[in-house]
Amino acid sequence: MNALKHCPRCKTDSPTSEFHRDASTADGLSTYCATCRNAMNREWYAQHADARNEQIERWKTQHADEVREADAARKRAAYAASAEFREVIRQRNAEQYRRRKQAAAAQGEQS
Ligand SMILES: [Zn+2]
Repeated sequence: MNALKHCPRCKTDSPTSEFHRDASTADGLSTYCATCRNAMNREWYAQHADARNEQIERWKTQHADEVREADAARKRAAYAASAEFREVIRQRNAEQYRRRKQAAAAQGEQS
């Protein structure tokens, strides 16, 4: 199967394998080739990134408690599920404790 399909954006005939599937079109393939599709998606995201981030930030602000709770729940679940994760946290805490102690000692020497 090496049928070609014309992409109206790059004006190139490409193998149909270069086109994403799209159930909404007559031939079941995207109007534009995958290269153009990807480029168009990138452009769209770039153009709408600000609005999207704003929306996400607004949502986070409005749902601050839920976000915090979800984060905490995710961490609790990960902590409970994995001994490895518990060990990582334990080592990180120990490391932080050691650094803080060192910093405090260094400060003590200076003054
Ligand atoms: Zn194209």
